[in-house]
Amino acid sequence: MKAYLTEIMESIQGEGLTAGARQIFLRFSGCNLRCRYCDTRASLVKPEKGIFYLKPGSNLEKEFFLNPLSIEDMMKFLQSFSSKWISLTGGEPLLWTDFISELIDRLKPSGYKFLLETNGTLVNALDKCIKGIDLISMDFKLPSATGDDNWDNHYLFLKKAVVKPCYVKVVVDDRSREEEIEAVFDIVRRIDPQITVILQPVTIMGKADLSLLPFLLVMQEKGLKSLKDIRIMPQMHTFLGFI
Ligand code: SF4
Repeated sequence: MKAYLTEIMESIQGEGLTAGARQIFLRFSGCNLRCRYCDTRASLVKPEKGIFYLKPGSNLEKEFFLNPLSIEDMMKFLQSFSSKWISLTGGEPLLWTDFISELIDRLKPSGYKFLLETNGTLVNALDKCIKGIDLISMDFKLPSATGDDNWDNHYLFLKKAVVKPCYVKVVVDDRSREEEIEAVFDIVRRIDPQITVILQPVTIMGKADLSLLPFLLVMQEKGLKSLKDIRIMPQMHTFLGFI
């Protein structure tokens, strides 16, 4: 079993409900979307070589590995890290469900936990590996960001994801429209109003776009009329200069 990966590293989680936690990041290659703010463009293609960062949170010391990477070689890399939390990220990790399912089967007995960071569109792929996932971070991708209408897929995906602990994240930029964010709130409300929604201002050149804060505060207030928990959270690792 093999997969293409862009990066393997240990760092702190910079987003979502586990922000600040030390995690291992497996950045899988390839994505079915093309968001205009994508901050992991190197992961959109399948690279001949991936990067293994040796020092937690830093890109100064690294080695390269050949793709596609086998499960056996992945297990060797993981032994050099101390964290037992693995973030399956990308790109879109659900393009690699067979590899992920086998990895989960091999590592769960040793106490590893798995966070799935997904764009929330590959509904059938989620079925194949949801059993072993401990937490799902599901993005809603707005039409103003992707040029596509993903609403139906997001609805079906979230309906399946809620059998596990999960939260929803929306990256907001200067093209995001009020009605798009209200559509996110509406889907969450229909499935489970207890689900946490995170509004994340877009990161530009390593800094959160703070000019979006007034808009985010208005949207947060509107959403809280019917949803339990809406948070405004920028990416945290960028403040710290971590990768
Ligand atoms: S879904 Fe994620 S990886 Fe894919 S294009 Fe959008 S931001 Fe980039």
